[in-house]
Amino acid sequence: MSEPWSQPMDVGALADAQADFELAIPLAELSRVRPLVGTLSGALHGHVHFEREGEIAVAALELAGTVQLTCQRCLRLMPWKIDGRARVALIAHDSQASSVPEQLEPMLAPGGKTSLRDLFEEELLLALPIVALHTDERACAPAASQEEDSAVHRPFERLAELLKRTTEASVAREDTSHGRTKKS
Ligand SMILES: [Zn+2]
Repeated sequence: MSEPWSQPMDVGALADAQADFELAIPLAELSRVRPLVGTLSGALHGHVHFEREGEIAVAALELAGTVQLTCQRCLRLMPWKIDGRARVALIAHDSQASSVPEQLEPMLAPGGKTSLRDLFEEELLLALPIVALHTDERACAPAASQEEDSAVHRPFERLAELLKRTTEASVAREDTSHGRTKKS
C-alpha cells in the first residue's frame, strides 16, 4: 500500500548505483509542510539523482510545484511557486557534518537511510518564506483601489456580449433545424 517514496532506503547503495528517480508526492503526504500551507491540493514534483563525491553519498535534487500560502497581511491564499535545486550530502551522524564540502548541504540520514519523501520535504521547507506576504501590497486590498473598481465592471460587459452571442447562435440553430424539416 505504501508508496516507494515513503520507504527508507540505503543512501550508500543508491549512490553506488547512481540511482535516478522521478516522483510526485501529494502535499497532503508531507506532514511537516501541512501546517504551513493554506490548501493541501496539488503535489510536489521532482527528480533526484544519487552519486558519490569522495566518500560522501550525494543526492542532487530538482523540485517544482505550487503551494498555496496564507498572506499574513490580508489572510487570503496566495500561490507560491517552488522551483529549486540542491545538492545534499547524506550523512549518517552529525559528527560527519564537518567533513562535508562547503558547496553541499549536509542532511542527516540516520543509519545511512532516508526516504525520498524526507529528502524532498526538507528541501520544500527551506524553499518556503518565513513570513508569506503578497509581493504587491495592492493585492491585499482589492476594494480600496480605483483600478480594481473598473475591473469589477468588465465581467458584466463580457456577460452581455456572451448572452447576445448565445441568442444569435440559438436563432441560427433554429434555422438549420427548419431546413432539415423541409428536406425530410
Ligand atoms: Zn495579502
